[in-house]
Amino acid sequence: MYDRLRREISYVEGLLEGSTTGNNPDAKALIRLIGVVDELVEATQKLDTRQAELEEYAEAIDEDLNDLELLFYDDEDDDNYLITCPECGEDVAVDLDDLEDDEIDLLCPNCHTTLTIEDASDAEEIEKLEV
Ligand SMILES: [Zn+2]
Repeated sequence: MYDRLRREISYVEGLLEGSTTGNNPDAKALIRLIGVVDELVEATQKLDTRQAELEEYAEAIDEDLNDLELLFYDDEDDDNYLITCPECGEDVAVDLDDLEDDEIDLLCPNCHTTLTIEDASDAEEIEKLEV
């Protein structure tokens, strides 16, 4: 596409140079104009190249993100672990995402006791609070 545009520009430039009226204002304006068009073509081609690179990059990121999502969701069940409610003995699933916090509170779905895990790295450390 850009090669064709450049050929067109060269052709028009050739026509203008061959013209005997090269010094009249119309011809001068045309020559200036063709110079502007030439710069625009060059700028557009650079943008086009950059755009293509960005698209490629975004696709690569998208693919990586997809891989991560697959990994995350595949492992989610394995990464969740169960703690046992000290009140009723119900097993409560803990999401590893939540464990990145220093302290998490969760409710036993069975008896609604608040379970506080203060140290996320130690799941044994469960404290029963009054509801
Ligand atoms: Zn419970």
